[in-house]
Amino acid sequence: MRRPIVVGNWKMHGSRAENARLIEELGARYPANPVADCVVCPPLVYVQEVGRLLRDTPIHLGAQDVCADAQGAFTGEVSAAMLKDVACEYVIVGHSERRLLYRESDQLVARKFAAAHAKALVPILCVGEQLAEREAGRTAEVVQRQLDVVLELCGAETLGQGVVAYEPVWAIGTGRNATPQQAEEVHALIRARIAAQDGRIASETRILYGGSVKASNAAELFAMPDVDGGLIGGASLKADEFLAILAAAGKR
Ligand code: PEP
Repeated sequence: MRRPIVVGNWKMHGSRAENARLIEELGARYPANPVADCVVCPPLVYVQEVGRLLRDTPIHLGAQDVCADAQGAFTGEVSAAMLKDVACEYVIVGHSERRLLYRESDQLVARKFAAAHAKALVPILCVGEQLAEREAGRTAEVVQRQLDVVLELCGAETLGQGVVAYEPVWAIGTGRNATPQQAEEVHALIRARIAAQDGRIASETRILYGGSVKASNAAELFAMPDVDGGLIGGASLKADEFLAILAAAGKR
């Protein structure tokens, strides 16, 4: 049985006061022994403080990005060891906003995955096609390419110790989610790709769906056999919405 997991990606939103309010509400209302893992990924400048706020809760701490290199002259970057040092447990790599706005290549994303894993962080690898790629019938090719680069660099064992998030770019922040069937199709494909290397690891790897998940559509998406939870952007900033999504994940 794969344990469901829901990850909140706060992106570049929040303030110290807003973060404190959100964590207070989540902490008060999220069960002490949850059946789904919950992770929040605040902007980097707030990671340490949010970690302190989460201390007496079952909610885990993550970051939104990490440097592929271990240390040195990389102005503006933060290493996996530094994230670990401030009690981070998870880190997102290869979010489409980083791939597209900051031109991160598949190879760089794979190196970030390896760097995070090497410092015992759980990397959350985002993959997903753009609208034009879906319309051109290239979804499988794009997602497999993004996944294969990580499989080649890190191997299936290491990949399986992380989390994969399928996030169709056309569904992120648009209000237009993939249908449960569209999501399942790609999730099954990702699992099959991992299974081609190792069936046991494939069956244990958690694969999240991300893209306009909200309280009203979470249950039907999480009901799909290969959807093990969600990576949540906008809805993770509203306690009611995020808690309802977590509850839906707990029922899968
Ligand atoms: C995301 O940022 O990964 C995301 C899925 O955003 P949203 O839920 O707002 O579409």
